[in-house]
Amino acid sequence: MPMINIRSLRTRTMLAMLAMLVALVAGLLFLAEQIIGKSFVALEERTTVLRVEQAVNVIEDSVVNLSRSARDYAFWDSSYEFVQAPNDAYIVENMNDSVFTGLNISLIAIVNPAGEVVHARAFDLVNEQEIPFPPELQDFTGPMAVLLQHTGTAESERSGLVLFADGPWLLAARPILTSQNEGPATGTFIMGRRLDAHEVERLSAVMRLPLVITRSDDPDLSAVLQQALVQINAGKAVVITPLDPQRISGITTLRDLWGQPGVLLSLDLPREVSLLGRQATGQYTLALLIVGLVFGALIFAMLERTVLARIISLSGQVGMIEANQVGSQVTLSGDDEIGHLATTINQMLARLAHAQRRITENERRYRQLIELTPDAIIVHDGQQIRYINSAGHQVLGNEVHVGQALDPTLAAVVPQADGTPILKEQRITRADGSVIEAELLALAFVDEDTPATELIVRNITERKEVERTLREAKEAADSANRAKSQFLATMSHELRTPLTSIIGYAELLNRALTPIANDEVMHDLRRIQVAGAHLLAIINDVLDLSKIEAGHMQVHPAPVRLDKLVQAVVDTVQPVIVRNTNQLLVQGLDDAGLMVTDEVHVRQILLNLLSNAGKFTTNGQITLRISGTPEMVYFAVHDTGIGIHPEQAKQLFRDFVQVDASTTRKYGGTGLGLALSRRLARLLGGDITLESALGEGSTFTLSLPRTMALAEGDVAMPSGEAPRKTELVAEDSTLQTRIILVIDDDPAVLDLVPRVLAHPGLHFETAATGAEGLELATALLPDLIILDVLLPELDGWDVLRQLKANPETATIPVLMQSIDPNADHGLVLGAAGVLHKPVDMLRLAQEMRALLNPTAAPMDVILVEDDAELSEYLRRTLEQNGWLVRVAGDGVTALDLFDQQMPNIAIVDLMLPGMDGISLIGAIRDRPGGASLPILVVTAKELTLAEQDHLSRSVEQVLHKGTFRGNDLVRCARSLVQINHDRIAHP
Ligand code: ADP
Repeated sequence: MPMINIRSLRTRTMLAMLAMLVALVAGLLFLAEQIIGKSFVALEERTTVLRVEQAVNVIEDSVVNLSRSARDYAFWDSSYEFVQAPNDAYIVENMNDSVFTGLNISLIAIVNPAGEVVHARAFDLVNEQEIPFPPELQDFTGPMAVLLQHTGTAESERSGLVLFADGPWLLAARPILTSQNEGPATGTFIMGRRLDAHEVERLSAVMRLPLVITRSDDPDLSAVLQQALVQINAGKAVVITPLDPQRISGITTLRDLWGQPGVLLSLDLPREVSLLGRQATGQYTLALLIVGLVFGALIFAMLERTVLARIISLSGQVGMIEANQVGSQVTLSGDDEIGHLATTINQMLARLAHAQRRITENERRYRQLIELTPDAIIVHDGQQIRYINSAGHQVLGNEVHVGQALDPTLAAVVPQADGTPILKEQRITRADGSVIEAELLALAFVDEDTPATELIVRNITERKEVERTLREAKEAADSANRAKSQFLATMSHELRTPLTSIIGYAELLNRALTPIANDEVMHDLRRIQVAGAHLLAIINDVLDLSKIEAGHMQVHPAPVRLDKLVQAVVDTVQPVIVRNTNQLLVQGLDDAGLMVTDEVHVRQILLNLLSNAGKFTTNGQITLRISGTPEMVYFAVHDTGIGIHPEQAKQLFRDFVQVDASTTRKYGGTGLGLALSRRLARLLGGDITLESALGEGSTFTLSLPRTMALAEGDVAMPSGEAPRKTELVAEDSTLQTRIILVIDDDPAVLDLVPRVLAHPGLHFETAATGAEGLELATALLPDLIILDVLLPELDGWDVLRQLKANPETATIPVLMQSIDPNADHGLVLGAAGVLHKPVDMLRLAQEMRALLNPTAAPMDVILVEDDAELSEYLRRTLEQNGWLVRVAGDGVTALDLFDQQMPNIAIVDLMLPGMDGISLIGAIRDRPGGASLPILVVTAKELTLAEQDHLSRSVEQVLHKGTFRGNDLVRCARSLVQINHDRIAHP
């Protein structure tokens, strides 16, 4: 037998409807019972009461009938007379049996007014025979006296129920009157009817009701009657008691002559009304049930059709889809809520299917990724491997598989307690015993709801190998780079040393040959000097570039007045500008202001840009425009020259790049200038940009921060020169400064002379005209005046005359410069000396020294230089300046010289055969008097930081070969001796 699924919607609906039906029927039945049932009960009661009252009426009729019969006999003359005179005839005639039966009476008594029974007879109507007269009626002195208490009129009577020992009786008493109803009454006529079974049966027959009469004092009263009696005594007229479903009894009492309940009158009646009521209710219920069932069935059918079947079908379809047919749709028609539900479900299913497709796709993709990755991916729970990808077998070995215990070293790599992943490198042993280098990443993972660890193992053995190779390669490269630097340092030494000789000798030759050689020789000599200077410039550029590259280029930021800076640059570059008949215009100089930067580098950049402009422009205009903001300063160098193609412009700032080969042929150059300039500009925190159009000219713009930011270490960088320089400046302040005034209209002279002759104890002032010169001379009263003869307006001779005429300036020595070889007559005019132009700086210096220190004694110098040519050149230059020179080619020879006599100063090359320069310096310092000896180092070597540091502490000055001329060396040496002398003199 199939189980009824009480969870099924259909069953539950059916049960709910049944329950509702039952409740409805029960409710209606209850209501019917309450309304119809009660009405029927009331009707039954009323009917029963009516019946009981009908029975009482019948009995009362019987009494009335008895009373009427008694009156007939009482109001009759014969009876009237009989009482007065009793006679048998009357008795025989009027009191015989037929009278009893005819009147249906059982008793007649005639009583005289004295209460004496005149005649009495009792009769049994059933057996039709005389029966003993009831004794209760023979004595009227007791309760029966009531029968005689009448008024004696026709109307007065006494009738009613009386209980005698043998049972209940109906009695009627009337006064005996004449036939004309007149009195006085001669007695009382009493007639009685026995209420025996016979009489009750008769009455029942008359009434057609089953009447039962019971004495109320009957000791065997039934329970029903006893209860009824109680209620009647309580005042109830008729007591209705249903005996059983079929029968109901109606009970009342008949009161006796004295008003007491005499007998109980009861009717046992069939309950027809009640039965009818019950039948009606039953039929009604049945009808209700049928109607309810029919309606229920109809509603259910309707529900089934419109809701249940569809929902069940929907649920079934969704269930099927859930179970296996993912991707399909439900079919259900109708545009009601269920129809919408189906549509919504379909939409959801579509979305679900889509999402599932994507999940599947994603999963496939991720799985593919995981399976394709070369890294081993393992999921483990600390003990067992739960998942391992294919790469896992390759990395860890084919023997490793799911379910197996994980290698303890790997199992130990777990994320931190707070879930932070762990990444580490470790050597691990594979299943086959081989060892690999691995990178391990451990991540927290949840595998089927239990915490696990995801371990990614990457085999980095090869990478490590590559890293090692790379490291070795880098070390090799570094070492190669060091070798390159070493090579450059050596190269620079090897190149600069002979170059310094070439330039120096050319200069000496120039000086020696000027008076005697012809122009051609002088021209060739000049070309040697120019080529040498150019080569030196190139070498210096290369070195600068490599210095910047190595981060060794130093910057010394200091406040710079832009007008002075620009003026100096312009003065220097002027010859290049004018060479191609160009004009140089400077704009924006007036309010250029100050900047803090490395002046030397800025000057170098501007010189390069301006000389390029001059080089690549002919008969044109070159403009230097200075502009700026509080933060930046811009130097725009514009020319109207050949211009640069945009394609080529991109390459220009790279090392050794020129626009094309023809440029080199035509203009010379190395292609280093711009590269170096840009690097210097960037070193100073700025840059160089270019705007150019081929054939129309170019604009190079140098932009620099107004205040250069110092990179850490910029200033602290130890150098061979810096600390000693500061020392020099500090000691300079103790010196008496000599003022030298240079009067010349050639800006190059005004620039060069102060620079070439620069000395801590000297201060140069310049004047471009004679008038300005005179003004400055009277104002400053300089120690020496260098005066050009050829000046515009006021010429040199005039100036000299005026100086000598003024007593204040008359004593100032004046050195005249003239291009006129016969200018010696100036001496007559009071000039201290006359020099021929172009000015030989060495001569000028000599003259100056002689004029400023008239009594200076010759100074002793030991020169230690292994390069014979350079040594010779320096010796001659020094000697020409009045020095006593002792020369040594190596350290050991030099020490001998020192031991013979300590000089005023030592000039030492660092790269010497045998004992090197640094050791030599150490040895000198150890000798008596050596500690305070000024030592000047001359080197072509690029110094390492350590060497710079060492030298800064052990020698007074370092000069780099190629960066100075013989005169610079002499000047420098002289000032060092002077400082040392002053220091000893004023400790
Ligand atoms: P170089 O020593 O060759 O002048 P630079 O780096 O200074 O080296 O310049 C590189 C090249 O850039 C030059 O050879 C020239 O072709 C081009 N150049 C530089 N300045 C200018 C300019 N003002 N006008 C035209 N071309 C220029």
